Order: sequence, then structure tokens, then C-alpha cells
Amino acid sequence: MENDCPFCKIFTGELQVNKVYEDENTVAIVDNNPRFSEGQCVVIHKRHVDQFYQLEDDELAGLSKAVKSVANKIKKAFNSRFVSTFTRGQSVPHVHVIIFPLSELDALSSYLESTQRLIQLIKKTDAKRLDEIARLIREA
Ligand SMILES: [Zn+2]
Repeated sequence: MENDCPFCKIFTGELQVNKVYEDENTVAIVDNNPRFSEGQCVVIHKRHVDQFYQLEDDELAGLSKAVKSVANKIKKAFNSRFVSTFTRGQSVPHVHVIIFPLSELDALSSYLESTQRLIQLIKKTDAKRLDEIARLIREA
């Protein structure tokens, strides 16, 4: 528990939220400021650590299980074609996964496609750089 962490305040009841799922280690809430689509939820691990890779393996497995459960609920509730996840790890220093319903024609899909085309126009990564990137990650 960190005093100023808004997600820790959810677990103590200081912040009012719309819970859609809870188990021993995770809570999922409806995001009151969705950036991707209506129905966006946030799945939060109860232990206060900043990044998902700081969780123990079994904690991460539990978080993934909760994300899957909420994804199935979102898909059913919104009859959406896809349910996507997003983990940035910068806005709140407490592990959480943003999860939201998407269709084939939504604004985010169009944005990502246009951004991808723009990036490809600017610079396509050459084979030598791809080899270098792979080596950097493998040897890290
Ligand atoms: Zn916290």
C-alpha cells in the first residue's frame, strides 16, 4: 500500500469504483475515463509494484487469468469482434492492464493502421538493424 497510489485506494475503499471482477489478488473496474472505447476496464493486481515484470510468475499468471475472465465478460456484454489489452506502465505506478472492446471499424484500428503506414513510409527497419535489435534483446 502506497499512500498516494489511486489504485491502492480502491482496495481500501477510499475510492469509489465500479467493480466488474474481483478475486484474492486482482480487481477489475470500469474505466471512468476511457481512451479506447466505451466498456474499457482496468484490471489491477493488488500488490503495489510498478511494472508487470516485477510480479512473481504466479502473480503474473493470476493477473493474466483475471484479464482473460474480464475479456470474456466484455466480449459478451458488448458483442464485440475483438477485446484488446494495453499495458503502458507509466500513468499510474501500480501494475494494471487496460482492456477494451473493439470492432473492425473503430477509430483506434483506423488510427493504428494509418500510423503503421506512416512509420513504414518514414523508415522500414533494414535486415542489419533487425539482427542488431535481436542480438541486443537476446544478450540482455
Ligand atoms: Zn498502489
